[in-house]
Amino acid sequence: MSNSKLYQKACEFMPGGVNSPARAFGGVGGEPVFIKRGEGCRMFDSDNKSYIDYVLSWGPLVLGHAHPHVVDAIHETAQNGTSFGAPTELETQLAELLVSQFKSIDMIRFVNSGTEATMSALRLARAHTGRAKIIKFAGNYHGHADMLLAQAGSSLATLSQSASAGVSENAVADTLIAPYNNLEAVKNLFENNRQQIAGIIVEPIAGNMGLVLPESEFLPGLRKLCDEHGALLIIDEVMTGFRAALPGAQTLYDVKPDITCLGKVIGGGLPVAAYGGRREVMHQVSPLGSMCQAGTLSGNPLGMASGLATLKGWLRENVFDNAAKRAEQLILGIREIAHSKGVLIQSAHVGTMFGFYFLKEPGQVKNFADAQRLVDTERYAKFFHAMLDQGYYFAPSAFEAGFVSAMHQPEDIAKTLKAIDKALA
Ligand SMILES: *Cc1c(COP(=O)(O)O)cnc(C)c1O
Repeated sequence: MSNSKLYQKACEFMPGGVNSPARAFGGVGGEPVFIKRGEGCRMFDSDNKSYIDYVLSWGPLVLGHAHPHVVDAIHETAQNGTSFGAPTELETQLAELLVSQFKSIDMIRFVNSGTEATMSALRLARAHTGRAKIIKFAGNYHGHADMLLAQAGSSLATLSQSASAGVSENAVADTLIAPYNNLEAVKNLFENNRQQIAGIIVEPIAGNMGLVLPESEFLPGLRKLCDEHGALLIIDEVMTGFRAALPGAQTLYDVKPDITCLGKVIGGGLPVAAYGGRREVMHQVSPLGSMCQAGTLSGNPLGMASGLATLKGWLRENVFDNAAKRAEQLILGIREIAHSKGVLIQSAHVGTMFGFYFLKEPGQVKNFADAQRLVDTERYAKFFHAMLDQGYYFAPSAFEAGFVSAMHQPEDIAKTLKAIDKALA
């Protein structure tokens, strides 16, 4: 069946024809392509068109599509059964690997999605401190748990409103919102809510409003404020873990969280996520402690095998660094092309993540309000379709980070840059 027919049929049975909204191309218009298979840095759709993929399942596929080591690991594991609801050695192996990578993590709990990881991390911060309120940043995305679907209300950084139908004002009453990169706002929140704030949750590099880097004093400043006020710092590395740096953005910016959330890469394309932290904090988690959190499929053997095979390949010498060079090559190229054509852009790359905005006017995006004001989403939509037509799959929204894998070769990037030159002509 063609992409178009598949899409029509999907729309009959699933809202918008998809199981996660960004896939529906709402941000760029047009119909989504339906993917049949992937190999290396490429995907093939139902019309047999091939694309060089810069979305990579929104981050996880650091070794590209259908890497033989990952596929073999899943296959071999599946032959012995797909789930037991009882402990397996694979869980300890992945846990040990992650704990050995992150200095801030002594113990870890596996869950099935980033949403679960952040939701549980907040519960843990509340259990540990006996306080209710949490601080999050506008434009940071932490999954779709109720209390994290809050947006800044009328007077920014004070009142929060629900950001979704079906999320009650009560559910976000304890969620305080501050602008990203604004320590002063966070300080004020602490001062106006003394002894009430359980923790701060933050994307150490914002990757869900495009790619926005933290200013140098931002993350250390959050750490300091948490220490002064007895709150926990939760760093959400679901996207940045094993992407921005090895093992994560917290290493890059030398800041030690109390709780880290992981996801995406650690499952290598299967539904695996985790939260972990200091031993004393993790001892609060059931069955050791009184904080309830469970999961029928948590630590699933297929996910553990996929995560282990993916990380083993990714952590081999120079693999990450070479991929990071590809991200740099892409962004330097884009800058040059945009400059030569007089197109206003803001761009960044960090490790194997990259991002670029087309701007409506000169300015710099440092937070969500800037992004909403400055970013030219129409221009991005045109760019997106011009690239899709030529066989390059970028994120179907102007407010997403992009990714490269170990399978993207310098020639692939060079070809992509030629196509970008054409798209911006
Ligand atoms: C993707 C993402 C999540 C949510 O993960 P899911 O597995 O989609 O639930 C949470 N936090 C960040 C920073 C993410 O990028």
